[in-house]
Formats: sequence, C-alpha cells, structure tokens
Amino acid sequence: MQFKNIIGHQKIKKQLINTVNENRISHAQLFFGQEGSGELALAVAYAQYICCENKQEDDSCGVCNSCVKYEKLAHPDLQLVFPTPGGSNKTKTGIKGNKAKDNAGANYYTDFRDLFISNPYFNIDDWHDKLEIKNEQPIINKDDCKDIISNLNLKTYESEYRVVIIWMVDKLHYAAAPKILKTLEEPSEKTLFLLITNNYDDVLNTIISRTQMIKVLNHTSEELVSYITNKYTKSEQEAKKIVKLSNNNINKIIKLIENSEDTEELFESFRNWMRLCWKPNVPELVEWIDEIGKSWGREKFKSFFEYGLEIIRLCLLYNNKNNNLLNLDNEELDFISKFSAFINEHNNIALSEEFNNSYTYIERNASAKIVMLDLSLKVHSIIKK
Ligand SMILES: [Zn+2]
Repeated sequence: MQFKNIIGHQKIKKQLINTVNENRISHAQLFFGQEGSGELALAVAYAQYICCENKQEDDSCGVCNSCVKYEKLAHPDLQLVFPTPGGSNKTKTGIKGNKAKDNAGANYYTDFRDLFISNPYFNIDDWHDKLEIKNEQPIINKDDCKDIISNLNLKTYESEYRVVIIWMVDKLHYAAAPKILKTLEEPSEKTLFLLITNNYDDVLNTIISRTQMIKVLNHTSEELVSYITNKYTKSEQEAKKIVKLSNNNINKIIKLIENSEDTEELFESFRNWMRLCWKPNVPELVEWIDEIGKSWGREKFKSFFEYGLEIIRLCLLYNNKNNNLLNLDNEELDFISKFSAFINEHNNIALSEEFNNSYTYIERNASAKIVMLDLSLKVHSIIKK
C-alpha cells in the first residue's frame, strides 16, 4: 500500500514520512480513530515506506522487491496479528459452516490479506463475515503473543526492520497482554510495533502507556466527495448525499455505492425480464437469457432470484398500502405500482416458491440458462392466471 493510494490524511502522511527521514521512528505506535478512517492502510503504507529500497520524498517506490511484497502483505519481515475465533492465527479450527471444510491447512492470513487487498478500509464486522463467524468473539490470545515473541528472536530476512502490525489491539485478551508488555517497552533493535484500534477506550492502559499515539481523524466531506466523483460515475450532489448517509465513513461509502449499483442493474434486468415473461415470446426470452448469461455468474443469478423475492414482498406491501416503500426511487416505485396488480395473496406463495427453487437448482449446479427459461415460463403461467 502506497501513501498515494490512501484517501486524504496529508498531514499524518507527512508526519510519518518525517519520522523516517529524521531518523526518529518510535518503536511502538498506536493508530486509533473511527472505523473507516484508514488506520490499517496508513500503518501498512508507513511500514512499506520504512522498508522500501528506493524511498521517494513523499512515498515508497511501489516497485522494489520489498514494496512488491508489502503490496500483497506478504513480506517475510512483516508479522500480522489480528483477532480470530479461539485466538489462534494458525488454524481454522473453531470456524463453523463451509469455511471449516475448505482447504485444510490454509490459515487466516490468506483471508486477512484478501480482505485488505479488496478493501483496505474493512472493519471488524467485515472480518467476521469473511470468516463466517456468527456468535463467537474473536480475540488475540496468549498463543498469538507467544508467536510474536518467538518471531522477534529470529533474524530479519530481507529488511532492516521487522514490523509487527496488531490489528484491533483492543481484542487483545488481558491475560495475554503481559506477554508482550515487556517487548513493547524494550523491543529488540529495529523492531517496530504498529497497533491499530477503532475502540481506544477498550485498549488496555498498560498498552496505551507504552505506545506513541497517532490519532487518525475522519475524512473530511470534501475529500470523500472528490473521491466518489473521481472513482464512480456520481454527480457532486449524489456524492454529497452518500457522504452524509455514511457519516464520513469510507468503508460504508464503498458498500453503499457498490450495493446500489448492483441493485440498479438487478432492477433493470428484472423489469426487462418481466416484460418478456408477460408475452411470452420464447425465442426472444432465450436470446435475452443467452445475453445475460454471458456476463452473469452463478452468484449473480442467485442474487437475481433473491431480488425477485424482494420484488414480490414489495408488491404485497404496496397492495397493503404500506409506507415502507417511501425509500424506493421513482422508477422502482412506478414499476412496483404496476406489477403489484398481478401479485396477490393467492399467487405470491407459488411465485416465491419458484424463485426459491431456482436458487436451489443453481446452488446444486444446474444450468443457469435452463433454470432461467423454466422459471420464466412458470412465472408467465402464474401471473396470467
Ligand atoms: Zn520500494
């Protein structure tokens, strides 16, 4: 992660770079701020800068051997520590659901790296989702701390500096903390601890007293509006609205925009599809299904069927004059108002069942095109009754 790829924070970036150029890197630093303000991204960019073999005035080079490894969070002298169920970074035991069955031997590092690379502003809930954790409370435990200590005894592989990043240090179990306190106080030379939290009040005082504080402020609205208008096809007015809704939280912004783009596309597709189902002109239907099949994967078809269930629900609400439809945009509301005339308490169950069945068939690896055509004809006969 280079500094230039992190939104805003010019002042902190400059301060961090100065500590390197003026040779006063503090060995233990605590980055804290509200969720979505980019503490982890800044810590990684800082570590990358420190280890870069060809430092530029205001950023790491991004292309040297060290930078390339840092970009993938795969540098041998970088140790990542983060909360996990049961608190061990080493195994996936304790994870329920499909994940446990996946690639035995893989560890949480891969999940953590993947998440960071796809969205460096992710929060603890995203991490729970990634691990498919429902009720467990992930922690950083004694074994994690033991690992930190034993790794510190090894020589660095490639860099002058060894960096330990502890993400969500507030999840460090109090019984485990004494293990690393001494190290935080008197680390081995050229060892750097970068601790991250969104819950400053939950960090143990013994940790706070041993670290230098880096307060990461929220992004300003101007920074975020310009980020949105540059990255997405949104007007300034739309961008302002999104920033406000997100409470200046970049993680929320990314989700708001990416989910809404998805919903817009599903809506368009659903409306077009329903016109074809109404007629139905089978060759035209087949052509349309072939066309969407070119870009849609199984997950998209599943989302489409889920969206169909949502439309049925909205139609029932509309028919019952429910006010919860106020947040629909005009086009959606227009469609729901017309389509709801064909949805009633008799056919909605049969329709929902067909969408649910189609979802299951796709999960069981049936051909998406065949499932889609079959569903189209069934929907036709149900709504025409
Ligand atoms: Zn470099």
